[in-house]
Amino acid sequence: MEEKLTQRSVWEKISNKLSKRSLWMLHYCTGCGAIELPPTMTARFDMERFGISPMVTPRQADILLITGYLSVKTLKRVVLTYEQMQAPKYVVGFGSCTINGGMYWNSYSTMKCLDQYIPVETYIAGCMPRPEAIIASFNDLIAKIDRGEANSWKDYYKNYDFYKANQDRTFEGPIETYNDIKADAAMFNIK
Ligand code: SF4
Repeated sequence: MEEKLTQRSVWEKISNKLSKRSLWMLHYCTGCGAIELPPTMTARFDMERFGISPMVTPRQADILLITGYLSVKTLKRVVLTYEQMQAPKYVVGFGSCTINGGMYWNSYSTMKCLDQYIPVETYIAGCMPRPEAIIASFNDLIAKIDRGEANSWKDYYKNYDFYKANQDRTFEGPIETYNDIKADAAMFNIK
């Protein structure tokens, strides 16, 4: 079926084409897998050739890379960081620990499924994933952005009550993030 073009859809296509080659990545190095990032960033694998560079602040970052297991304390910081990022934003769960708890699956103090707390755009499986896997996953993400399919961030606005309930249960009470997610959803016209 022929796609109906509107001013908004044309703008989104242009925006996707531009942003897919200009991604800033904030890496939240909680787990041991973080050791694979220096070779990914530096001369041997050189992720910058794909347009991905490190960024030090959440407000300028497009990608939030979580490099392993999260405790309750670090998960809280991840939620605070995620909410500060401007949309569109893409969370990448790096390593088995972010998928199902990995080798800490039965630990009392670590989180098991990152996507119960914030939307995850893509996971990189493995313990620990090698730079080749990181690069392959970034290329998948770039292709997804190009096709206009990297929209998991919208889920946080659509299903905020679900994420908030999981956060509150884990943190044993609400945390103050100073962000009005429902107002943001209205601004993006997300229902
Ligand atoms: S997946 Fe493996 S390498 Fe990554 S944080 Fe967990 S235990 Fe460490």
